[in-house]
Amino acid sequence: MLIFKKVDDLTDWWDVQIRAGRTIGFVPTMGALHQGHLSLVKRASKVCDLVVCSIFVNPAQFNDPKDFEAYPQPIERDIQQLLDSKCEVLFLPSVNEMYPSDLPDYPKMRLGNLALTLEGKFRPGHFDGMVKAVERLLRIVRPHHLFMGRKDYQQALIVGKLIEKRKFNIQLHTCPTERNAGGLALSSRNVRLSLNGQIKALKIPQTLAGLRKKISAEGKLNAARAAVLLDPYVQQFAYEKDFKLEYLEIRRADDLEELDNHSVPAAKLVILIAVWLEGIRLIDNMPVDPKA
Ligand code: AMP
Repeated sequence: MLIFKKVDDLTDWWDVQIRAGRTIGFVPTMGALHQGHLSLVKRASKVCDLVVCSIFVNPAQFNDPKDFEAYPQPIERDIQQLLDSKCEVLFLPSVNEMYPSDLPDYPKMRLGNLALTLEGKFRPGHFDGMVKAVERLLRIVRPHHLFMGRKDYQQALIVGKLIEKRKFNIQLHTCPTERNAGGLALSSRNVRLSLNGQIKALKIPQTLAGLRKKISAEGKLNAARAAVLLDPYVQQFAYEKDFKLEYLEIRRADDLEELDNHSVPAAKLVILIAVWLEGIRLIDNMPVDPKA
């Protein structure tokens, strides 16, 4: 595996590969790699000739400085995991390499309500930082295919919008969420949970699965009916003092718009949750459509 820290080195490599007619798949990450990240690398290696993975812990997308400081950065372990996978290039830029002082600002992009709701509401500025980093990385890496996790559902939709608005010739693949045996979505933040916390956190996938079953049984849903289904779950989180629920919502799967008084087919809905446990913010989601 090649490790590039400089944009110019990656560009030289890119020129050679493109001249040889190879397709490039890209997996951007913030490191602290786990099987979720590696599943994206695996998927990319099936679709593309070459896989580039980046590790960049983007300070701009942490609205909470404490979260940034606590974010795990086990770089040696990450490199070892990538060596064992089918990744050809690791791009490991510094903040200066990503954002040199002479880098012109990209034209502001209007993301609308999609970036203001749910994560956007509870983490102001988060998506601006994420979009800034992803756009910069896409302009550097210039992949044919981009692989992102459905675990960050809203993020994947926003990146899809970025690609569309900028007219990038990149195919986005949104890949399934990898979970542990109990159903908890793998995440770089989970490793900070105590053993007891990891057991308690199973309530998150259990809630999503329970709701999904109920929504499927209804067949379709409007806002009033969604509120009725959500209520007992929201109450349960309120009773358990270890949890602090930020949101538990049922939204339209394609644009994350809220439901209104029109009924929407169950298969076009997604359930999303953000909750604090042991001082760690955990997010997860489940599309109601089992084929999604
Ligand atoms: P992060 O390093 O958390 O920014 O994540 C990098 C990429 O990995 C994003 O596209 C995430 O959605 C994806 N990802 C994170 N956790 C998982 C998971 N459990 N399963 C699949 N993809 C994931």
